[in-house]
Amino acid sequence: MAIKSIDQKDVSKITSGQVIIDLKSIVKELVENSIDANSTKIEINFQNYGIDSISVTDNGKGIKKEDFEFVCLRSHTSKISEFEDLDKLSTLGFRGEALNSICSVSSKVKIVTCTDYPKNHELDYDKAGKLSKSVSKIGGGFSKQTGTSVSIEKIFFDLPVRLKNFVKNSKREFHKAINFLTQYLLIYPEIKFSVFNVVNSKKSLALSSRGGSKSTILDNMITVFGANGAKGLVELKLLISEDIQIEGYISSYSFGLGRSVTDRQFMFINKRPVMLKKLSKIVNDVYKSFNHMQYPIFILNIAIDPSALDVNLTPDKGMIMIHSEQDLFEKIRLDLIGFFESQDNVIPRNLER
Ligand code: ADP
Ligand code: MG
Repeated sequence: MAIKSIDQKDVSKITSGQVIIDLKSIVKELVENSIDANSTKIEINFQNYGIDSISVTDNGKGIKKEDFEFVCLRSHTSKISEFEDLDKLSTLGFRGEALNSICSVSSKVKIVTCTDYPKNHELDYDKAGKLSKSVSKIGGGFSKQTGTSVSIEKIFFDLPVRLKNFVKNSKREFHKAINFLTQYLLIYPEIKFSVFNVVNSKKSLALSSRGGSKSTILDNMITVFGANGAKGLVELKLLISEDIQIEGYISSYSFGLGRSVTDRQFMFINKRPVMLKKLSKIVNDVYKSFNHMQYPIFILNIAIDPSALDVNLTPDKGMIMIHSEQDLFEKIRLDLIGFFESQDNVIPRNLER
């Protein structure tokens, strides 16, 4: 017999490659869990650029005792119970595999969670995602509130090739993770983010935002990109159809940036960071027809009915299929032209409608 099933203990180590490929994907999954738990404060701590450990602490709703044993089991989620639920999905997660995959590629996963202050629980999970230790405590770090802290130690420690690559490129991997986090910081201005890195016992702040209901995307553009970070940005609101809206900010056509600014062009669908190359090109092309010397900065969220989307194309959900995409994008193109035309009523040349 040539075909045999893979030993159960190795299955998740093998399949986890799809979700957890690098430091960035670990941080993404943990932060998305904190956002899904309705947190308003998220703190991320890297030890030695993430080589030694990563922890994400939030003030979200916490995890209930009856769920402790299921948190890190594969395909266990509190977010959907059947496939059809994807049609009304309002959370970033739903596959119930991130924590399980993280368990399989790291030496230790520890969760401290609190739903009923001052009682909290310290939980350890083994490589298969099974609860291996549960200790209840009183007090601790959640100062009169609920929340969860997930710490991951020594990622990729028994995946030699990935580990070597990670250690060798740790600073680059760290910056990739920070850049990715920036997207959440921008699109969730009401959440207070603090990101620290500790190297040789020295703690430095890598990224932060103020949070609170009064904070805006523009405030965070300034926090991230400096005093001129929001200069020239105008609010964009396009009602594309009854259940599709585009909201955000874009450079006015008289004030773009002189260089290609792909690092300042952000797109989201229902606040989920996404790569939409075709739509990005459309936005850049329309902008170019009004200002052929410069490039636009943009932060655009497409709010769309979840039933018109398929977010389940890739495990990291970075690719999304939209119903009638071509018609939608064409409508966006025309509306965007209309938007720039209405700015000062200047009709650009070389523009086809
Ligand atoms: P998914 O997010 O797809 O459900 P995960 O493996 O990321 O899968 O998480 C499994 C479950 O653990 C979640 O459905 C949620 O119930 C719980 N969980 C994980 N992180 C947190 C957190 N920070 N706060 C509250 N619950 C959490
Ligand atoms: Mg998740």
